[in-house]
Amino acid sequence: LLYTQSMVWLVSSSLILKSDGTGPQQGLLYFAKQINPSYIEKLSLLIELPVELKVSSDSVLQPSVTFVSDQQSHASVSMNLINDSKNRLNVILNQQRPFHEQMLETIVYTLTVVFLIGTFAVLLGYVTIRKNLVLPLLELQHQTELFGKDANSGIFKSYNSNDELGQLTRAVMQMAKKLEVNMDLLKNERERFMDASYTDDLTMLKNRRYMDRFLANELTQKTGEDWLFLMFDCDFFKNVNDTFGHDMGDKVLIQFASLLKKYSRDDDIVVRYGGEEFVIICPEANESLGCSMSERIRSKVEEFSFGDVNQPLNLTCSIGFFTTRSVCTEGSSSSWAGMIKLADMALFAAKYSGRNAWVGLKCNYPKIWSEGPVNVDQLLQHMAQEHLTLFSSLDSVMWGENKYVGADQ
Ligand code: GH3
Ligand code: MG
Ligand code: MG
Repeated sequence: LLYTQSMVWLVSSSLILKSDGTGPQQGLLYFAKQINPSYIEKLSLLIELPVELKVSSDSVLQPSVTFVSDQQSHASVSMNLINDSKNRLNVILNQQRPFHEQMLETIVYTLTVVFLIGTFAVLLGYVTIRKNLVLPLLELQHQTELFGKDANSGIFKSYNSNDELGQLTRAVMQMAKKLEVNMDLLKNERERFMDASYTDDLTMLKNRRYMDRFLANELTQKTGEDWLFLMFDCDFFKNVNDTFGHDMGDKVLIQFASLLKKYSRDDDIVVRYGGEEFVIICPEANESLGCSMSERIRSKVEEFSFGDVNQPLNLTCSIGFFTTRSVCTEGSSSSWAGMIKLADMALFAAKYSGRNAWVGLKCNYPKIWSEGPVNVDQLLQHMAQEHLTLFSSLDSVMWGENKYVGADQ
């Protein structure tokens, strides 16, 4: 390459020989071709790439490729000029980057495919885990919650699989069955203890704790029925103990309790109130039953031969009853205590009036309870006003010189 007058020439030489190509050499024949725009154009057409030729001092020693943009790249190489060592001829091929877009498309496509496959795999994993793990676990949790409410192991559905979940479900089922059995045992035990705590050891009747609970029971207070409370006290019981001994006294109390059971109805609640005092609570009963029951029990006790064949003994009892419509009982639970107290006052009157007798009071005045505890004076006033009606086996009832003294308990 020759550089002269701002033009680059492509020079080549050939030996001058004879026409048959034999020597001796006659000289050298030089050819020169100017590298001008039309030559460059031809060259571009030939190689089908835009070519740029430029003489410059700032040349590239090594062939190199530069990416100018996403669409364009330059391939450059520089060539020596034989007569100019400062400058070189830079040949630059401007090339499209068709693979760049292809590569981008491929990357986008690959990423899309990877994303879709990933999403599908995640969904598949979610569905599989939900079906095989989450749903059975939720079901197990639900069943455990239901079991917690009514302790019925039957709600556990068997899960036939040998994986960890199947083993867990079976373990929970076994545990629930054991728990159910233990809870049944515990329930029975509890009922047994409850029964024991509400039962009087000597007579096997209900005790006062049971009575208090029964009366405090809201449902009991709301029943729209007539109620009858009978109180019994054995007459001169101390004499039985003193004469025949305490064991015989116990035996008599057992016999007395069984007479009360025998002459009361199945629904009546027979209670040992304390010592030789007893209570019978009769739902759905009125003064008429109060009178007939009192007289029947009084006479049966009087006729009964207590003790044993070797030591028969007679006993009498005094009875006080109180009867009321449910309308009087609505309100505070203290009203029940008030009724028991009125039955106790009637019992005291029976005692005071001679024993082996019964005295009953019937409430006609619904507000009698709101006026607080009743003493003998008030009781006599209520009777005078016909708020209370008196019934008795006696012709005349004495109220302890208008002084009420609580009966022994
Ligand atoms: P009243 O007619 O006034 O009721 O006379 P009472 O002797 O029955 O009354 P008091 O309160 O003086 O005596 C009751 C007696 O009952 C005294 C007590 O030792 C006896 N008692 C209380 N509980 C039992 C018991 O569980 N077994 C025996 N054997 N006696 C009992
Ligand atoms: Mg007594
Ligand atoms: Mg007593």
